[in-house]
Amino acid sequence: TPEILSSRQHSLQRNAISRNAVNVVQRLQQAGYEAYVVGGCVRDLLLDLDPKDYDVATSATPEQVRAEFRNARVIGRRFKLVHVHFGREIIEVATFRANHPEEDDEEEASHLAARNESGRILRDNVYGTLDDDAQRRDFTINALYYDPTSERILDHTHGVHDIRNRLIRLIGDPEQRYQEDPVRMLRAVRFAAKLDFEIERHSAEPIAELADLLDGIPSARLFDETLKLFLGGKAERTFELLLEYDLFAPLFPASAAALERNPEYAGTLIRNALANTDLRIQQGKPVTPAFLFAALLWPALPARVLELQDRGMPPIPAMQEAAHDIIWEQCQRTAIPKRFTIPMREIWDMQERLPRRQGRRADQLLENPRFRAGYDFLLLRESAGEKTGGLGDWWTDYQEASDSDRRSMIRNLS
Ligand code: ATP
Ligand code: MG
Repeated sequence: TPEILSSRQHSLQRNAISRNAVNVVQRLQQAGYEAYVVGGCVRDLLLDLDPKDYDVATSATPEQVRAEFRNARVIGRRFKLVHVHFGREIIEVATFRANHPEEDDEEEASHLAARNESGRILRDNVYGTLDDDAQRRDFTINALYYDPTSERILDHTHGVHDIRNRLIRLIGDPEQRYQEDPVRMLRAVRFAAKLDFEIERHSAEPIAELADLLDGIPSARLFDETLKLFLGGKAERTFELLLEYDLFAPLFPASAAALERNPEYAGTLIRNALANTDLRIQQGKPVTPAFLFAALLWPALPARVLELQDRGMPPIPAMQEAAHDIIWEQCQRTAIPKRFTIPMREIWDMQERLPRRQGRRADQLLENPRFRAGYDFLLLRESAGEKTGGLGDWWTDYQEASDSDRRSMIRNLS
């Protein structure tokens, strides 16, 4: 039975919650179903953070939910969800479900919860009770249910205690829960960084040992997860935790090898890139995954170029081939879409063109739509101690110079 916190026992205010989420819950309750606001939004509101979005959990099936709303769409194949649209806001409504099928119903079990040898759940669309729904969630702090009508919080897993003590704790046996879904290891690190929480000892302990299970996760899912790790505003802290728990190497094997070979340069370049990303997010400026991936993988390039040159390849083709190979290999881990790999290559190519400024070249480069990213990337390399003969300063001056000053800057290049 859950611990029940009345409105006087917790800090969550009904009017802090999206009006639309409250309406969805109350509409379902009026139709005779159980319904709650659940997950990250309850957690974030208890911590005085702004929720990204609102999730609702209900006893109604997706079809029953859809029947209650004009603006609802059933989505998903693995498990069905309903999106209720209110202009730009989408409230995601999920039916209570269980992690494990009934032990005594073997046919149902093999049908609905196929597992591979390592115990990873391949399909888990089994409907269940509210308690089942709480137990199948990842962390205690993500398994709090808020009823806006009674203003009570239902806590099946001591999540409120863990929020107060700032702890990330898996529900159930940590090793088993990581084996079921290794991405939970990345989520543990992501929430620890985002919320400035600690990973509880038993939940932390198995991670390094199990980190390689990430090799079995589809690369498209790992790409999505990587973006959440590095574009959540706490990328620098996230990176430290990924290293601490041996989770960086399975995500970025070539970068991890470069970090081992050259910790000073690679470490500084990556940390500076991530600190910059965090700052831009804090300032509300746009960040592009292309720049981020270009930075994460750049330290892996030199060794690969040398290898190809040792086999007799001239420098320029060696650089091209190394860039191609490294991106291709990375895509096997995290499926970076073409719309990002193309600008990654352009940012890297720009690094070879920025030194060549004679004649009309400098002005042509300024016109290049990728100039700004290429120039920022050059400054990033210099910030990590790369010697470029003052190229970054030269380009800074050139951009600000008058036409006649520009002419003399070009003439002065010897
Ligand atoms: P965010 O602020 O990043 O959106 P969130 O907690 O809402 O954080 P989501 O990925 O949106 O995270 O997932 C919503 C909820 O679904 C989580 O709070 C958690 O209860 C549950 N959940 C998500 N992923 C998993 C998983 N891999 N295993 C178990 N439960 C999960
Ligand atoms: Mg969420």
